[in-house]
Amino acid sequence: MIYLDHAATTPVPREVADAMYEVLTNQFGNPSSQYQLGLDMKKQVEGWRKTVADALGCEPKQLYFTACGTEGDNWAIQAACWQNRHVGRHIVTTAVEHSAVLECCKWMEQQGYEVTRIAPDGKGSITAEQVLSAVRSDTALVSVMMVNNELGNVYPIADIAKGLAAKNPKTLLHTDAVQGFLKVPFSAKALGADFITISGHKIGGPKGVGALYIGPRVRNPRPLLAGGGQEGGLRSGTEATAQIAGFAKAVELRTEDLADKLAHMAELKAYAVERLTAIPDLTVISDGTAPHILAVSLAGWPSQNIVNDLSAQGLCISAGSACHQGKPSHVVAALKLPKKTAGGVIRISFGPETTKADIDACADALKNHHDNRMPML
Ligand code: PLP
Repeated sequence: MIYLDHAATTPVPREVADAMYEVLTNQFGNPSSQYQLGLDMKKQVEGWRKTVADALGCEPKQLYFTACGTEGDNWAIQAACWQNRHVGRHIVTTAVEHSAVLECCKWMEQQGYEVTRIAPDGKGSITAEQVLSAVRSDTALVSVMMVNNELGNVYPIADIAKGLAAKNPKTLLHTDAVQGFLKVPFSAKALGADFITISGHKIGGPKGVGALYIGPRVRNPRPLLAGGGQEGGLRSGTEATAQIAGFAKAVELRTEDLADKLAHMAELKAYAVERLTAIPDLTVISDGTAPHILAVSLAGWPSQNIVNDLSAQGLCISAGSACHQGKPSHVVAALKLPKKTAGGVIRISFGPETTKADIDACADALKNHHDNRMPML
């Protein structure tokens, strides 16, 4: 199998699975238990929190483990709106956020909030000026993703944070960094966002674990789950110790020689652009600079047919976000591309283990698809 869909999820290295197995079997204690097995686990969880916090560039006490990126996004939006309920009922976001943000914003609309969704240009770019010009005196929250999961565009979060301080210092800033964490170097402290969402399974960790950074401007953050008081009383529920252990091990492995890994992915992306654009009718549709995501279109050939054909040959690529489960992507729709181009958009995404031979196989399969299947759009 050739796996070129690392933006959907990533394989778990052996060391990560081993770290999880150890916690599931020998070190299975509940961190809240007061005997040694529990006390040891509590200490371990705090160690794993420090590992992830160090990689994110924040204090361990600012990092709360969650069940996934989706949970972090939902929590951040609700906590920001709660803190700023007296500032106003306006949210600024983009039309190309992950559904975890967009659906939560829709839900806020049902509760009386007004939501402004910034549209990208035809290449997926969004500027800080566009976002800031939508901010008003009653804007409670700005939520803009760090890296677009379908296009690979990197959005100017630090500039938005700086601009917000001048335009409306009360507005809180959330960034969904699920595709940015350990892909686009940044430090939570320097970034200036109040909430940062990350997820384990995009960086070689298991599915079912993520984390939310909550910065110092968020006073008395609104708890997500009330109960036994875990995660500083903000997100109760017995800690998912094995998932957290796996997340921290994945972070540890990914951060080893991270610059080399990112350079390798960027080089592969450039190689993929070179190989794929040699195929007739194939164009790059985004100028996104994230090293691991490349969006192209085989204009005229429906993307789901391409995915199915390549899948039959053991090649995994995506027709846009895996979260859309075959439905047309709102991200591609927001680019307002010609129908033929929009219908043929596919996403190829890389990890540190991806090789040039994988790209060659993908390019050959796409060329075959182009040459041997009739265009249908
Ligand atoms: N945000 C972005 C940008 C994503 O790409 C994803 C997953 O595809 C998520 C949020 C959701 O993360 P999770 O699958 O951990 O809920």
